[in-house]
Amino acid sequence: MSRRPLRIGLSARIHHPQPGASGLLSKSLHYLEQSVAHWVMSRDVMVLMIPSVSGDGFIHRSSIRLSDYPQYLDGLVLQGGADVCPQSYGEESLAPEWSGDRLRDAYEMELFHEFVEAGKPVLGICRGAQLINVALGGTLYQDIATQLPEAGVHVHADYDRHAHAIEWTAGSGLAKHYPGLAGGGVISIHHQAIKALGRGLRVEALGQGDGVIEAVRLEARNYVLGVQWHPEFHPPGAPDLLDCTPILDEFLQAARGRRW
Ligand code: MN
Repeated sequence: MSRRPLRIGLSARIHHPQPGASGLLSKSLHYLEQSVAHWVMSRDVMVLMIPSVSGDGFIHRSSIRLSDYPQYLDGLVLQGGADVCPQSYGEESLAPEWSGDRLRDAYEMELFHEFVEAGKPVLGICRGAQLINVALGGTLYQDIATQLPEAGVHVHADYDRHAHAIEWTAGSGLAKHYPGLAGGGVISIHHQAIKALGRGLRVEALGQGDGVIEAVRLEARNYVLGVQWHPEFHPPGAPDLLDCTPILDEFLQAARGRRW
């Protein structure tokens, strides 16, 4: 078996040019959030960000397509960021600030389907979990506080220090990594949530006390997992937060199994 490090593709966060902006912020930017890359790199893994192939550039980009990437990469991580656009699941935005990023939706849905078709594993984080659900025909709550007023607090000004508890569902594949634990604390930074489940998805974790869907897994040979929380913001050894190393290892094990 090859001993080369795993190569994991990371979807880009996209900054769109803003009216009135100058310099770099007047351009389309693709970027990654360092913590998510470093979390994946905590094992013997190379992380490569995959740029969108559409956009407003002047340069012709030869014949490389997103579908060429799975051939060279062992798995895909869909990182967090902007809201999913309600139009991506057949709804209109209930408020202008919830209109999300439809360009990023299209780019990441194409990436998702190409990796799944190639049999390569996919891990979605926060927006990534929602994107997986929408790519499989599911829907979202556009705003938890508005549409699920009884739910707990899933986003807070404390940003990456805001945590709540989750609990495993019966038969959850994630639960088997945590014998004796009904769930744990997770860092939560989302105001949208999964509503109708996408085709073939199974719920693996729920918000404790409110039942908000916090993790989904595809019931298929292909490894597809989405977690609504942010494992990259869990400091190693934090006593009140779930140790997410087993989740990373599970994903990487699936990637290793698909490597030539
Ligand atoms: Mn949450």
